[in-house]
Amino acid sequence: MQLLIMLTNAMIGACLGSHACVVAQRFGQANFISARSVCQSCQRSLLLRDEIPLISYLYLKGKCRYCRSFIPARLFYAELLGAASFCKLNMLDSINWPLAAFIFSLLILALQDWETQSIDTLLLIPPILLTLFWPHFAWTNWTISQIWIIVPILLTMGWFIYQGKMGSGDLYLLIIILAFWGSLVGTVILLIACCLFIGYFVCTSQNRQQALAFLPFLYCGQIIYLLWQ
Ligand SMILES: [Zn+2]
Repeated sequence: MQLLIMLTNAMIGACLGSHACVVAQRFGQANFISARSVCQSCQRSLLLRDEIPLISYLYLKGKCRYCRSFIPARLFYAELLGAASFCKLNMLDSINWPLAAFIFSLLILALQDWETQSIDTLLLIPPILLTLFWPHFAWTNWTISQIWIIVPILLTMGWFIYQGKMGSGDLYLLIIILAFWGSLVGTVILLIACCLFIGYFVCTSQNRQQALAFLPFLYCGQIIYLLWQ
């Protein structure tokens, strides 16, 4: 039964991941609520069976049914991230809805940041409001001494932003995540994100001079925490 609930949540999460990808791409430019999905190459409308999260991509081997051009892999990764984010979250319980909304809003920002190395400022409003009114009020449990431990990290990020190696959006999102999760969980997520960030640099041929979005690593840190819980 537990496995069935997890699979259901994962499928809902994959759908949300797919929609987050569309919102990240179209926000402020095109309709992302009711417009039908089309192939970016041949512009033909996709059938419902072409839009089943994860399954359609694997079945079609990542190619459009009509013109056989490649479907961007980011769509598949977004669905996978969505499935991982929500599989352990019981969305039938309304107490988890603010958390689900927070995760969804951050997923949109993480995908946008990864793709464009920038974020739309308006998209920051939902996670800020959810942090301020999240029933746990986790942002109130930070003590002055804990804030002083985080200050060097924030200053280091500020220096990277000044050097042009990081966007200011990453700093805002880090503060939002730390405030939303509170002192203990926020610090754990930050540590996981830093490990992933360093690991990515070591394992890839990423140009050291090139700016890299930190938010996707923070987001993955949050997912690892949620899965590990
Ligand atoms: Zn096509």
